Amino acid sequence: MIPTKLLHQEVEIPQLGFGVFQVPPEETKLTVETAISTGYRHIDTATVYRNERGVGEAVAASEVARDDLFITTKVWNDSQGHDPALAAFGASLERLGMDRVDLYLIHWPRPASGLQVETWAALQKIHDEGRSRAIGVSNYRIEDLELLADAGGTQPSINQIELHPYLQQKELRKWHEDNGIVTEAWSPLAKGEVLADPVITRIAETVDRTPGQVVLRWHLQLGNVVIPKSVTPSRIQENFELFDFELSDEHMTEIEAMDHGHRTGPDPGTFESS
Ligand code: NDP
Repeated sequence: MIPTKLLHQEVEIPQLGFGVFQVPPEETKLTVETAISTGYRHIDTATVYRNERGVGEAVAASEVARDDLFITTKVWNDSQGHDPALAAFGASLERLGMDRVDLYLIHWPRPASGLQVETWAALQKIHDEGRSRAIGVSNYRIEDLELLADAGGTQPSINQIELHPYLQQKELRKWHEDNGIVTEAWSPLAKGEVLADPVITRIAETVDRTPGQVVLRWHLQLGNVVIPKSVTPSRIQENFELFDFELSDEHMTEIEAMDHGHRTGPDPGTFESS
């Protein structure tokens, strides 16, 4: 059984999910089918990944009931603003072949755009209408979250941020905790960059697990929702086998010391790409 975290005090999100960024559209259906048959019940896609259709096809073909799956998608930068976000959400549902998703996120804050509050109002409407069971944001910094808090209304239930042993985001995680926001880690393996680190390989040898399993287990023990991506069936399986071992406090402390603020992706304060 995959543990869950509670969003908006009512919706359970499986703590382990499966990310599909950079899974080619034509391979997505098969890759997601492999993930679902391995046991994953939570899939993380986005409009900009251009593979929502493949995700939807895999869900439709699956023997697992739709209600037992958790599907996330995200509004891309070029559709921010109230009406564009509503239109983008409708188009995502159409590509997914669904009448609702479980989680809808604003993909990037784009602080210079001045559209954050307006875009968030569109997500609140989608949530109020029951077309997304939960809503949240991605790549938000404390100042971006404060802007939404000041505007009032339903607050983000989750913030999906770059987070791995080289970028541990302690201050932001603490803010989330203090404000009832779940932390979700993207690029949880730092796109593979952390897997050859001697601290990780040594712990992996000690606990007789792979480096990837050690890093993902660290995330789970911190309380993060985690969405590793792989197109390799053996790794899809490997990344799922996290629930029959534990890292000691000493191992957690050693990994904590690996943080050096290294980003593999863009800086949310300045990323404007559309
Ligand atoms: P990950 O940290 O999940 O790393 C994926 C890379 O690691 C791939 O090259 C994969 O290779 C490899 N890999 C996976 N498992 C293992 C393993 N056990 N051992 C060795 N190598 C492994 O990075 P992603 O950037 O893909 O992030 C994961 C998900 O996060 C995305 O798919 C997406 O859903 C989300 N995301 C969200 C962003 C946002 O802005 N909100 C930004 C970026 C990602 P291979 O596939 O060849 O097996």
